[in-house]
Amino acid sequence: MITFNMNDGHVIPSVGYGVYLMSPAEVEAHLPEAIEAGYRHIDTANAYFNEKAVGRVVRRSGIDRGEFFITSKLFPQDYGAEDCGKAIDATLRRLDTDYLDLLLLHQPYGRYTEAWQVMEEAVAAGKVRSIGLSNFNQAKTQEVLDVASVTPAVLQVEIHPYWNQHGMKAFLKDRNVTFEAWYPLGHGDAKLLAEPVFARLAEKYGRTPAQIILRWHLQEGNVVFPKTLNPVHMAENIDIFDFSLTDDEMAEINALPQRAYYDVPEEAPAFVLQHNDWDAQE
Ligand code: NAD
Repeated sequence: MITFNMNDGHVIPSVGYGVYLMSPAEVEAHLPEAIEAGYRHIDTANAYFNEKAVGRVVRRSGIDRGEFFITSKLFPQDYGAEDCGKAIDATLRRLDTDYLDLLLLHQPYGRYTEAWQVMEEAVAAGKVRSIGLSNFNQAKTQEVLDVASVTPAVLQVEIHPYWNQHGMKAFLKDRNVTFEAWYPLGHGDAKLLAEPVFARLAEKYGRTPAQIILRWHLQEGNVVFPKTLNPVHMAENIDIFDFSLTDDEMAEINALPQRAYYDVPEEAPAFVLQHNDWDAQE
């Protein structure tokens, strides 16, 4: 497994297993297969409603907690200074762990600068090792940078060959922020996977188009956690470390037309404003 060095001195595995839109039952069924296939980095969130199941599977694996890299994310309802510390403690309880490897602010709405300061305290208290942001644009990231004593280690945003985020990367270059890709395979978009450049490179390297895309991410410095319930894909997605694309091939992929699948709205959408009871999960 290739790892990336983050700007806070911690190390992050470049490939993880994402459990977005997986029910607790699906996590119980498929996360053990991913662990068996070699995954040790797990990406969950309060809003995925499956942290308790993740905690149970990790505990049951019998593998040392220290070998895992576990990420979760806070939701805007808990960003206020009076709620955020409790939300971090509750996240640890649901995941049945003493610390998180990485904690992100999931959505760029509400009192996120207050939450950032509480997350910094959680780092000082040893509850969280690294902290970062998700779905923040340049202006909102700058607001956090303006109050931050700890620079975000990670920015998790939509990234794939149709949306390479080179603009955001240029903005954060001097801060050495590690980028994490959501929708790394285009959320299963058949058009992306069928781009002729990936078919040609797959043929050249004896790989699948998905592996070519994931290898592009790796060489771009992006952490990925492609979602799959299919054990063949699980094995394939982590088997990208023994070949490399040339600079010309990287440039050809980066020349694909750019468009995001999802525009992060400036104002909070309804699903973000809805209040949730994170403990109400199996
Ligand atoms: P993805 O790009 O990982 O696509 C998943 C799709 O790709 C599925 O349909 C799957 O069957 C298919 N697939 C997986 N491996 C394949 C392979 N080897 N060959 C062919 N097809 C393959 O998109 P996603 O699941 O939406 O996102 C991945 C992860 O990103 C999530 O699990 C979650 O952890 C994270 N995420 C974060 C946010 C955020 O707001 N921070 C938003 C969305 C997703």
